[in-house]
Amino acid sequence: LRSLADTDPEILRAIELETERQRNKIELIASENFVSRAVMEAQGSVMTNKYAEGYPAHRYYGGCEYVDVAENIARERALKLFGAEYVNVQPHSGSQANMAVYFALLKPGDTILGMDLAHGGHLTHGSKVNISGKYFNFISYGVEKDTGRIDYEKVQAIASEYKPKMIVAGASAYPREIDFEKLKKAADEIGAYLMVDMAHIAGLIAAGLHMSPVPYADVITTTTHKTLRGPRGGMIFCKECYGPDIDKAIFPGIQGGPLMHVIAAKAVAFGEALKPDFKEYQKQIIKNAAALAEALTGYGFSLVSGGTDTHLMLVDLQNKGITGMQAENMLDEVGVTVNKNAVPFDPQPPKITSGIRIGTPAVTTRGFDEEAMRQVAEVFHCVLDYFGDKHYQEKARALVRQICGRYPLY
Ligand code: PLP
Repeated sequence: LRSLADTDPEILRAIELETERQRNKIELIASENFVSRAVMEAQGSVMTNKYAEGYPAHRYYGGCEYVDVAENIARERALKLFGAEYVNVQPHSGSQANMAVYFALLKPGDTILGMDLAHGGHLTHGSKVNISGKYFNFISYGVEKDTGRIDYEKVQAIASEYKPKMIVAGASAYPREIDFEKLKKAADEIGAYLMVDMAHIAGLIAAGLHMSPVPYADVITTTTHKTLRGPRGGMIFCKECYGPDIDKAIFPGIQGGPLMHVIAAKAVAFGEALKPDFKEYQKQIIKNAAALAEALTGYGFSLVSGGTDTHLMLVDLQNKGITGMQAENMLDEVGVTVNKNAVPFDPQPPKITSGIRIGTPAVTTRGFDEEAMRQVAEVFHCVLDYFGDKHYQEKARALVRQICGRYPLY
């Protein structure tokens, strides 16, 4: 078996350049992280060669004894990490996990109440351009204009009026803690399922720093690659009684052979998350987000809801007279990676937006502390408050080089 350097220098070069990009830029995309070498080793292993349709001890292929070991360990560790009853670790992604839940518990055409994409929800929570919005009758709740927060009484009122079969909680761009207990109450009043998509906040929940959905939700979906810091993938937890339906919805419902190398890497990541230093890491993610939010506010940036309780914040740039798209491009030029993001009630179209979303999971993995976050805020100030000024742009570049140099990666 020859190495990549011998067989495919073009792809090797792309990987090397991507490694350099990750090293030399400040990664503030809220949904990204840097996995450990151990996770990458498992993911880059011979387990990628194995077909294993089915579940441990019930496979449709021979030779599954060792991949069974990996999947069983992934399941055990996942259950321990979240204190849940049942888990399926096979979803290829967060989107697959969500789709499997809808198809396991509901029928096409059923009404589901989810968070509006334009207010922080995810595409798979009923967007018209997503299969969820095409096959199910999604209605939505959002945040309040004056507070930027969910009004739980309003969610309950919408639920009482439209009687959805399921309420979906969870978001991609909501900076505040979500109260699953209140959403469970709203679901119970109308006999609806509560599904929690904890993709963004799974790491915080595992560390006990965000309310856990486990006591309240019928089903919980997540990605494994965000705050949880595992390989790209998905996972579904549920009450024991839904386990067989969820398993069938994943395989043979919407997936074929599981990605056993990814499942092995999930097991490694869950093992890391069970160690005490993972909790310290998650605490630092929150401290860093708070420090960045405070410093940005000090420079006159306006944050949706006024701040953050979590790993992310949404900056509303309307008072600075620039769009999200412009800010994303300007920051990228000096070595800071963020994504443009609609703010609630955004007057701009989704491809332009009035905001940017910023998260601290990846930089915290690198070791950034609160002081580094204050310097990052200074970079934002130089770039966005002195738009087009070469002197400030150079100052920002120098700051990025200095900060990245202090926290080496890989
Ligand atoms: N759910 C939420 C809340 C997310 O933020 C995301 C991804 O950003 C997903 C689901 C989908 O995950 P994936 O990209 O793995 O399909």
